[in-house]
Amino acid sequence: MSGGRQDLLRVVPSIDELLRIEQSISLTKRYGRELVTRIMREVTDELRVLLTEHGDGARARAAPDVIVQEVSLRVDAASKPNLRTVFNLTGTVLHTNLGRAPLARAALDAMTTVASGASNVEYDLKSGRRGDRDAHVEALICQLTGAEAATIVNNNAAAVLLVLNTLAKRKEVLVSRGELIEIGDAFRIPDVMSRAGAKLVEVGTTNRTHLVDYEQALNERTTLLMKVHTSNYVIQGFTSEVSEKELASLSVRHEIPLVVDLGSGTLIDLTRYGLPHEATVSEVLEEGVDLVTFSGDKLLGGPQSGIIAGRRDLVRRVKRNPMKRALRVDKLTIAALEATLRLYLDPERLIDRLPALAFLTRSATDIEALAQRLVSPLRQVLGKEAVVRVISCRSQIGSGALPVDLLGSAAISITLEGQKGRAIERLAGAFRSLPSPVIGRIENRAFVMDLRCLDDEEGFAQQLDSLKIARR
Ligand SMILES: *Cc1c(COP(=O)(O)O)cnc(C)c1O
Repeated sequence: MSGGRQDLLRVVPSIDELLRIEQSISLTKRYGRELVTRIMREVTDELRVLLTEHGDGARARAAPDVIVQEVSLRVDAASKPNLRTVFNLTGTVLHTNLGRAPLARAALDAMTTVASGASNVEYDLKSGRRGDRDAHVEALICQLTGAEAATIVNNNAAAVLLVLNTLAKRKEVLVSRGELIEIGDAFRIPDVMSRAGAKLVEVGTTNRTHLVDYEQALNERTTLLMKVHTSNYVIQGFTSEVSEKELASLSVRHEIPLVVDLGSGTLIDLTRYGLPHEATVSEVLEEGVDLVTFSGDKLLGGPQSGIIAGRRDLVRRVKRNPMKRALRVDKLTIAALEATLRLYLDPERLIDRLPALAFLTRSATDIEALAQRLVSPLRQVLGKEAVVRVISCRSQIGSGALPVDLLGSAAISITLEGQKGRAIERLAGAFRSLPSPVIGRIENRAFVMDLRCLDDEEGFAQQLDSLKIARR
């Protein structure tokens, strides 16, 4: 390095010097000295490299104020939580990657209350002895579904795994070929079956399975009949499946339990809210099914969890499986689930209290009016080259619930006039980099935001100004 460059490096202020600047003092008060000095070192190290490479051209960036400004931006960014709330404007209400069901106020309150101190999560207040964590929700589930008993695990995948491992380890389970589904990534019925140690016996064909197919596959090693809700796809045309009722009678005749993986599972008849019909847990149990498994954070609208409900003797066996301990839920989940289930005791007010249901039942007219209100603020920040309009669209329930039933909705569509290449992707990226990231979708070279799940109109509108910065 030349002597001139050596001299140039002397313009870089020392950390002590930087720490004495007013803005640094407030930064260290807020974020702590350790983080601030670490980032100062990082910025000054980079500056030295820059000065070495560009010489005098980089000199302006060595001003203490400029350095601390950069440090401030980086400290802010480093302190932002990784897990944040976003605006789900994808048009999929129960979006697995975006955390599925938003929780009810009552569930949030219950979680914070329980989180802030000790609780009786596994303690029986009457006897003063060790209790059962399922006890907080079991009676509610039984009341709402007609089940004799119930138990809770981490999610529905865990519920299926645990049931199969408990009831069918080293034994054969009959499942229709039309129900060997894959849901999201890495949940495939055949894989779960083998991990549970059960042997899958496929019956029937992809599009048609008859009772006689099950009868012919039955032998002394058969230990379980299983039916899986096909959730995320439908088989149309020349099809036939065996109903729960028919399978239940077969299961009684052969004294082999019948298990149904309902996937979403709903506790109430959704048609009363104008939604398409989905079999309820109690309807399925009434058909004579011995055990059902379903998710807590799909149509139920609660926290991530898996519910196993049905015959008392089978639930007892499931609970005794040592794997149950590894798959159990924490106190926060129990708090949220209990509070959510209690809302179902008053179905008339459920729609006002359960956000998932409120979103699903929101009218297209209401959503369109909201979209109209946002058009002009969006036009203002996006400028002339953006064409902003309201379009009608269809939202999905998501998470494999009612896959073919789409709900009439409205969206804002943005196209960019005369811009080619990746301009629309960049626009979508700018929306994602807002303080509260906005997640939409790109469709036919337009950025589309379905407003069904937008409940904080003000929060959305308020941050639009940052879009100008984000687009630079
Ligand atoms: C969603 C789903 C699962 C997995 O449930 P998670 O709660 O996501 O673990 C399993 N089976 C079916 C039929 C489903 O729809």
